[in-house]
Amino acid sequence: MKRIGMFLLCCATCLEASSWTLDRAVLEERLPPGVTTEELLRVLKLEGIDVSLRDSPDTLLWKGDRTSISLARTPFSPYHLWVEVEGRKTLDECTAEELGDLYEAIWKGRKALGEATGADGFMILATEQKRNGKNRSAAGFEIIPAGFGGTDGVMDAVEKNALNEYLLYNRFPNRTVEQSPEVIAALRERLRTLEYVLEREDTQPCWTQKFTHHEEALHQSLEVLYDSLVQLGALVEGEMPSMVTPAERIHEIQINLDCCALCNPKVIQKQLVSDWKGVEILMNHKPVSPYRDFLIIPKRHQCVWDLSREEAIATLEAIVAFKKMYIKTVGSNEWICYIQDGRSVGQTVPHANVHFFIIPDRLVTAISGLQHIHNQRPVLSYEEMRADCDRLKPLLLEELGR
Ligand SMILES: [Zn+2]
Repeated sequence: MKRIGMFLLCCATCLEASSWTLDRAVLEERLPPGVTTEELLRVLKLEGIDVSLRDSPDTLLWKGDRTSISLARTPFSPYHLWVEVEGRKTLDECTAEELGDLYEAIWKGRKALGEATGADGFMILATEQKRNGKNRSAAGFEIIPAGFGGTDGVMDAVEKNALNEYLLYNRFPNRTVEQSPEVIAALRERLRTLEYVLEREDTQPCWTQKFTHHEEALHQSLEVLYDSLVQLGALVEGEMPSMVTPAERIHEIQINLDCCALCNPKVIQKQLVSDWKGVEILMNHKPVSPYRDFLIIPKRHQCVWDLSREEAIATLEAIVAFKKMYIKTVGSNEWICYIQDGRSVGQTVPHANVHFFIIPDRLVTAISGLQHIHNQRPVLSYEEMRADCDRLKPLLLEELGR
């Protein structure tokens, strides 16, 4: 069976490495129960691997009254930030004021990254799962600046696959992440001095999504799909086709003929689940999750994720309501919530939007990834959409406390 060679564990066995460096704190926090660091080192020594343990550098960049910003312990890309509320609370345990402070810290982190690194886009990820920078469930946001792939709004589809693996499944691609002490010092300085202010903007022109390494990304998704079929025991016969290396070119997908789909009254009328304190909660017309995908957007047009404090609190309250609704209705707290802030991280509609859905199986993601690149992801009909929105509205409103 052919494996994707880019992920850490499978790749490590084929590197012929005889000397490994491991992060002591990350290892001690994240080793599964029943395994000690000593046992791991003994096993590796028997295999001729010489392991050295490295102590984590100081990752704290800024500390406010109720929030803090650190460099992620195990970064997906350089200058990957971790923003959290003090006290290791879950999102629903945070007060409205803490949610407001959390947003303002995200705002500062994003601006500081832009100024210190030149990044023009940010993948912003909310989660309570055990992830980067924390060892138990607690609320926080990660900010991954553009630069992990793509420039001038052109994404590298292979990097996008790697990012999805990280976002959805917390899997780390095997990569070297280098950070410059000068940039980190600049980040600290910007965070110390930046003051939150809402930056309003005018309507943006139409957008398209552009990808490079298109064939390779399709091949990777097909590989995940193939492996899933093998694991299901469903594949009786058949090999993965080998990839023909194509000439590199940019593949362009026209996203929407309307200038801003999320300001279009017809779209709102079709997709609205509910509105809440200046934000609208829409159902995505091309869902990935079998439990549907949602968008939380400010009512006013704004391309960049620059929200007023009130809009930010309402947005985070809507996330909490979705979380509670899915715990009650599906029994799952395995949700994913992210913001693609900028074309270079794959933002497809020029109106700030927050995605929320229950994490789908990797087979579903692979199918959806293939369909996305061909722009053939199934679209919900008007009738399906309205029936689902009307069914979910009272459940969501109950959690919003109305
Ligand atoms: Zn708009």
